[in-house]
Amino acid sequence: MYTLLVHGGAGKIQENAFDEHAKGAKEAVNAGVEILKSGGSAMDAVEAAVKVMEDNPIFNAGTGAVLTFEGEVEMDAAIAYGPNLDFGAVAGVKNIRHPISLARLVMEKTDHVLLAGKGANDFAKLMGFEFHDPVTEQRRAQWEKYRKDFINGNYRDWPKLRELFKEHPEFLHGTVGAVAIDSHGETAAATSTGGVFLKLLGRVGDTPIPGAGTYATPYGAASSTGLGEGMMRILLTKTALDFIRDGLDAQHAAEAAINCLDNIIGTDAGIIVVDRNGNVGIYHNTPNMTWAYIKDGMDEIESGNT
Ligand code: ASP
Repeated sequence: MYTLLVHGGAGKIQENAFDEHAKGAKEAVNAGVEILKSGGSAMDAVEAAVKVMEDNPIFNAGTGAVLTFEGEVEMDAAIAYGPNLDFGAVAGVKNIRHPISLARLVMEKTDHVLLAGKGANDFAKLMGFEFHDPVTEQRRAQWEKYRKDFINGNYRDWPKLRELFKEHPEFLHGTVGAVAIDSHGETAAATSTGGVFLKLLGRVGDTPIPGAGTYATPYGAASSTGLGEGMMRILLTKTALDFIRDGLDAQHAAEAAINCLDNIIGTDAGIIVVDRNGNVGIYHNTPNMTWAYIKDGMDEIESGNT
């Protein structure tokens, strides 16, 4: 038995881009499922799936990540191993191709859980990661436009930024994530992001925080997307996995977790969840979220943007 489910971010996706997003998500599932089919681990599968999406410039992770207010790219990524709650993450890392692989090395090669900023980049160099410029022309053009709009709106502090994200949910979509359970019953989750457009330098979102944007336990695995400032406060992925521990299946747990967020904080979010029975859960309160999955026994990958 195995299941692999990925997301390509919650927000607003233009209808004419639906196919391209779904195709990108399916390519990621294809990369990961080969590993699961041959008896490989959920950890290897979620890392492989996320790497494919980090290389796809339509997603806000790795190449194509969004720019900070200052015009730089600072990326967050995390990987979680369910059986013993192991976790590795990087925050604010620059100029590498696969932040998700660096996050995994933090877990496997250090005694830490999260490396940030210069320390994360120094560790990347030590691990042999080469310089890679993740800025695409399209992202820079979007940044120029959004920054102008932003400045004309008399930006002063974060409440304004949150209002802006509410009016323009397209600012958010694009983060990527994957959750899986393998034939040994082990769960894993991985998430990678450029964060949110026009974030301040040094801003860290939910993605690398255990239980916020990424989490895996013996009961399941979850990866979320949306405005990190809300998801960090409610620990969205941990909330979903606690619901599974208490008896809900993956879909009901995903819905219950987003409902908790809606009731208390009310920010934009989406989540993917797999439970230990291999069920999938997909839920979001945004207009769109790209997703794709395959379970043992299915002939074809299912995918969608709603
Ligand atoms: N959750 C990410 C963050 O706040 C953004 C996203 O999912 O698009 O950093």
